[in-house]
Amino acid sequence: MTRLKLAIQKSGRLAEESLALLERSGLKFAKSKDKLFWFGETLPIDLMLVRDDDIPRLLLAGVCQLGIVGGNVAEEKALEQGLDARTGFAPLVGLGFGRCRLMLAAPEQSAIQGAQDLTGQRLATSYPQLTRRYLNERGVSADIVVLNGAVEIAPSMGAAEAIVDLVSTGTTLRANHLAVVDEVLVSEAGLYRCPNALSPEAEALIDTLMTRIEGVRQANETKYVMMHAPKNKLTEITALLPGAEAPTVLTLEGSPDRVALHAVCTEQVFWEHLERLKAAGASAILVLPVEKMLA
Ligand code: ATP
Ligand code: ZN
Repeated sequence: MTRLKLAIQKSGRLAEESLALLERSGLKFAKSKDKLFWFGETLPIDLMLVRDDDIPRLLLAGVCQLGIVGGNVAEEKALEQGLDARTGFAPLVGLGFGRCRLMLAAPEQSAIQGAQDLTGQRLATSYPQLTRRYLNERGVSADIVVLNGAVEIAPSMGAAEAIVDLVSTGTTLRANHLAVVDEVLVSEAGLYRCPNALSPEAEALIDTLMTRIEGVRQANETKYVMMHAPKNKLTEITALLPGAEAPTVLTLEGSPDRVALHAVCTEQVFWEHLERLKAAGASAILVLPVEKMLA
């Protein structure tokens, strides 16, 4: 019988959310003692727990058929293998977590204001391939100094004039008196697959997993909204609901002028939305999470 191997990060920034997403998609695993290989009990998909940097290579070599990894790592490793990372190794679906940005940064007082100022300079980074692509696309030639950690101290150590590094809040940059100059890559975690074609059964299994993951992602953003509303304000109130289609309208026993209105909102519902609904005459407004969706 067909079984697929899915690689996720063993521990780190992507580990928890990767596993939570798979569990919400209905996958359950029997955890092994060594914690590196978990047997899939509900679907024939087994889990391999590895370092995130190894995931692209496991997929490109066909050792694993599926993997969850950051776009930054996927693109860097694909370029390393001589692939066009944007077309040759694109995610099946973006997963909306592990968001970060790969940024070009330079010392606060530096004359480097953009890519054009990098000619002949030294750039420290753990992402030589993405940095090279960035420079090539701008026709700039600079030296790349590869460091696997502590990239942000390279300028003050005199090892480089600028850096290309992952940034989430910018605190590390500020602490090292560095300022962002340009954005090199915006990244999030994605579901990736091996590039080679698989058996029809394996492809069907991948489709099933993808449909479920998309369902979970949609459900995350979807809310079920209930309220009481004046009968003569229905059109106005419906228009205030974010991403809602035709609502369900129910009569309220004993109150001829007001109705109960239920709607599925496919976009985020903020407090501002509720305040506007209330101002338009709605009351008893409830926003409920949606656990699963199958369109
Ligand atoms: P491993 O031991 O698996 O090699 P790691 O130390 O390389 O782990 P983590 O720090 O856990 O990796 O980050 C994994 C991925 O999480 C990154 O490659 C990136 O895609 C994403 N990420 C999200 N936010 C951040 C952030 N603020 N800084 C760095 N990476 C982030
Ligand atoms: Zn790593």
